[in-house]
Amino acid sequence: EKTTVLITGCSSGIGLGLAARLAADAARRFKGKGVTLRRGDRHPRGSPEPGQAAPCARGWAGAGAGRAAQRHRCQRLRSPAVYATMRDLAKGERLLERLGGCCPDTLEVLQLDVTDPCSLAAAVQQVQGQRLDVLVCNAGVGLMGPLETCSDQAMKTVFDVNLFGAVRTIQAFLPTMKRHRAGRIIVSSSIGGLQGLPFNSVYCASKFALEGLCESLAIVLQPFNIHLTLVECGPVNTSFLAKLQRPDPEGSELQGLDAETQGLYRRYLRHCQSLFHDVAQEVEEVLQVFLEAIGTPCPPLRCVTTQLFAPLSRLRLASPDGSAYVRAMHDFVFGRGEAGGERP
Ligand code: NAD
Repeated sequence: EKTTVLITGCSSGIGLGLAARLAADAARRFKGKGVTLRRGDRHPRGSPEPGQAAPCARGWAGAGAGRAAQRHRCQRLRSPAVYATMRDLAKGERLLERLGGCCPDTLEVLQLDVTDPCSLAAAVQQVQGQRLDVLVCNAGVGLMGPLETCSDQAMKTVFDVNLFGAVRTIQAFLPTMKRHRAGRIIVSSSIGGLQGLPFNSVYCASKFALEGLCESLAIVLQPFNIHLTLVECGPVNTSFLAKLQRPDPEGSELQGLDAETQGLYRRYLRHCQSLFHDVAQEVEEVLQVFLEAIGTPCPPLRCVTTQLFAPLSRLRLASPDGSAYVRAMHDFVFGRGEAGGERP
């Protein structure tokens, strides 16, 4: 019996790695019967009519014979076992490269922007009729910087992807899982969803919100035999850090901000760079935690990928008023008693 998995945010990083890993699964547990590359382009721009097969993703198999073969295979609509979804199908090339240049018969790539209800509806339509065993809500974006510099739009985007994107995705696939009275929902969360991190207030707020959402939902899902697991990632070597929105410490965005906060922010950026340089996990390591959550009979609500923050997490729990955590985190990031050089 194959396991059908749908993953969001598969054009890079953890999502890409997980999709490739599952599609190439040596035990063939995720094996499907055929392959389809379908483009569920956003409605109304080129979206297929309900029930109608979408045209193939372009540019997938590179040039020539490969592409012709893809086109040919696209006509055989079968049930794949890994639905790798991504906002921009043009970025699907990377996933294909990871799989050695050819699309295995275990994979279907679908367009899905978690902020776009129409795109989500089109993806649901394409998966219809399939029993979905595992839903992985992985799409996420970051936002860093002094709170005073975070624009309304940037804050809304973070919540729209990290929180509401996951909510919409779960809402879309939950009824099927409930009907089958089985399933798993795995959510890419963050250590920043468990404890506050300096200059990441809005990102942490979105992941904290996700934690509250998932913990609440897990209680209701228990009688349905649907397990929900939050994977709490620490720093992971993906393009996440490079892509996240943050003000340039030397740029105009910090103009008007007090000098002390500017100093702290510069310090934080240096700390963050060295943290990622020294202790960031590789995607493969983090994937083990996702695979365990998929494969274990009764996965827990939360799994951390690293013990790096365990002392700080323990401190946070042991001292619920929070002040010991705030002091310890401050010292961890900025050093003891010399933050910004001008601590009052
Ligand atoms: P990444 O940037 O490589 O992956 C994020 C993916 O989400 C990208 O493929 C991106 O295109 C996709 N995405 C963004 N907006 C989307 C949208 N509207 N619709 C669909 N997809 C969208 O980074 P990653 O490290 O692989 O991140 C995966 C998850 O892990 C995220 O939820 C992130 O918050 C979480 N995480 C990452 C780290 C880290 O250090 N890399 C740490 C903690 C948590």
